[in-house]
Amino acid sequence: MNKPIYLDNQSTTPLDPKVLEAMLPYLKNKFGNASSIHHSYGRESKRAVEDARAMVAQSICSDTRDIIFTSGATESINLALKGLCQSYKGVGHIITQNTEHRAVLDTCQALEREGWDISYLPVDKNGFIKPRSILNAIRKETALVAIMHANNEIGTIQSIEEIGDICKRKGITFFVDASQSFGRLDIDVQKMKIDLLAATAHKIYGPKGVGFLYVRQKSPKVTLKMQIDGGGHERGLRSGTLAVHQIIGLAKAVEVFIECKEKENEQLRSLRDKMFFSIKTAYPQLILNGSSLAERLPNNLNICFPGIEAESLIMKMKGIACSTGSACSGNDLEPSHVIRALGRDTESAHSAIRFSLGRFNTEAEIDGAIEEIINTLPLFIKD
Ligand code: PLP
Repeated sequence: MNKPIYLDNQSTTPLDPKVLEAMLPYLKNKFGNASSIHHSYGRESKRAVEDARAMVAQSICSDTRDIIFTSGATESINLALKGLCQSYKGVGHIITQNTEHRAVLDTCQALEREGWDISYLPVDKNGFIKPRSILNAIRKETALVAIMHANNEIGTIQSIEEIGDICKRKGITFFVDASQSFGRLDIDVQKMKIDLLAATAHKIYGPKGVGFLYVRQKSPKVTLKMQIDGGGHERGLRSGTLAVHQIIGLAKAVEVFIECKEKENEQLRSLRDKMFFSIKTAYPQLILNGSSLAERLPNNLNICFPGIEAESLIMKMKGIACSTGSACSGNDLEPSHVIRALGRDTESAHSAIRFSLGRFNTEAEIDGAIEEIINTLPLFIKD
């Protein structure tokens, strides 16, 4: 049986064969521990890790030593938020938005239990946070602003540079979850005045289980409390033997993306737009969730099928692998907090599906997906 067409690339991407090829030697004969610098095996690994660090740093215009390798964005987010707050004397205030990923929201909730005060600012109906609302929410005890670059469900891209300016002027640490934008969009931590940035390899055709945290060390220096006790790796911020093959995979994924970013984004944008307009023509009630197609990630399409339960539609479309933003809590399906934050009611939120395209989707696949969606919809439309 043919595998379904994979349209869930914002959840994770397949490994690019070039990335796998770069990783393989480090799973075979280049197995040294990057901390064992007394022999050539270790030094070989150490050199490879430092080259990878330089590649990642260069891609976001940071200093090489500001990159801390981690197991992925969730760990980076925990280290950034908890690490910053725990290095403070006493407790303070954090500003974030209600459409962040659970990795940020749940970490904020954990900090709330430690006595921190959190402002979860609302977004507008298109998913944008107004920089002015951040300015207005700042208090004298505000220690951190945490705003994601691009949303994982609706692809909305926030005004990071404007928010960075505000934080810089007010002397507040600015954290950005760039899990969905890293590699795909331009990021310059100097220009955008970002102090902490989290990203992950498995959204850019790299391996799962590796990511990094950018931690600014100058103008200003950001101080974090480490979260894992151990050998003091990664400038004491993240103990544990480095997963060299994973780090090489991350750096190779970045290198490949730098070469093909423009072309890939253009191609995905055109396939994504074709998909939206074809479905909309067949089913005019369709609602686009989030910002306009031009103001979101080029690979994201999130749409409500009014009157249709997304879960049931997805189950019927056996030839397509896509997702809803719903999460299972106990026996109930909770509608996506992101779609709800746009002002949609529960029923409407339950009709939302995210299709996210990727490097390996062909035009024939997108045509096949469009056909299947259009052919399945009549099963759900009541006269
Ligand atoms: N933040 C965002 C916006 C994401 O999309 C994801 C992945 O789903 C994460 C954080 C968590 O990343 P990781 O799977 O590397 O822990």
